[in-house]
Amino acid sequence: MRRQRTIRQAVVSEGIGLHTGLPGRIRLLPAPEDHGIQFRHAATGTIVPARIDHAQELAFATRIGLGQSAISTVEHLLSAIRGVGIDNILVELEGGEVPIMDGSAEPFVEILGEAGIREQERPVTVLRLTAPVEVRDGAKWIRAEPSDELTVDYRISFDNPLVGYQRYVGTVDPETYRKAIAPARTFGFLKDVKYLKSQGLGLGGSYSNCVIVDDHRVVSGELRFPDEFVRHKVLDLVGDLALLEYPLAASITAHKAGHALHADLVRAILARPECWELVGGGGPAFVVPFPLETEIPAAIAL
Ligand SMILES: [Zn+2]
Repeated sequence: MRRQRTIRQAVVSEGIGLHTGLPGRIRLLPAPEDHGIQFRHAATGTIVPARIDHAQELAFATRIGLGQSAISTVEHLLSAIRGVGIDNILVELEGGEVPIMDGSAEPFVEILGEAGIREQERPVTVLRLTAPVEVRDGAKWIRAEPSDELTVDYRISFDNPLVGYQRYVGTVDPETYRKAIAPARTFGFLKDVKYLKSQGLGLGGSYSNCVIVDDHRVVSGELRFPDEFVRHKVLDLVGDLALLEYPLAASITAHKAGHALHADLVRAILARPECWELVGGGGPAFVVPFPLETEIPAAIAL
């Protein structure tokens, strides 16, 4: 079993939020062993662990926390953190929404690379499935089956002829994640973009941070992969699985799924402890140092 990892030094990044269109600034900080991934809302000082019980899936984004301390659009940053194999990190956010950057996880992977990865002493705790868990919503479904490592078989099917049916099959390890998953950008259909803007959402969306598809063509420029759409779904899945707290060892098959079904799978797994075991580690993989809605001490030992 590998050892836990954090980052070597603090790094900062800025950009605008996809939905609010407002500027936001994130600071990524090293964190001690068994800390997990936690967010700190800079304005209120509230610490919010990246856990499913603190998450709400909105129609077009995942939000962590409550009320004034909510942090929106966390999914691509969570995906980058988990995708490159970081276990312990504190994400401080100024503003209410994590910047969308270029719509992929690649800019986050780059700043995590600048921060550097540091191995810690304790082994990581992994949640290993011992029996299948499946959730369905009509024709959409997602299933997790026992496996020694995280693998995905993701299929999407859209009426749009350009996107159509796409399938991505592979192991999700840090190297594959960096090359094949992280660069895949979020995508939307021109008609949905118009609707979103009319609803006051997607205000920061543009051709520079979203692949926009019309009926027969991509209107926002070149694709990074012919199957960039399904790869982005895998990126989203990796981020949503971070809400399990523990890295997952399972083989996942998804058919026409999305954030809501990913989150339902996380809930279904946690609700069935007879279907999994925690391996490695030696203690709880997630010790919350500060309760929710508590002011963070000025001097935090990291
Ligand atoms: Zn996404």
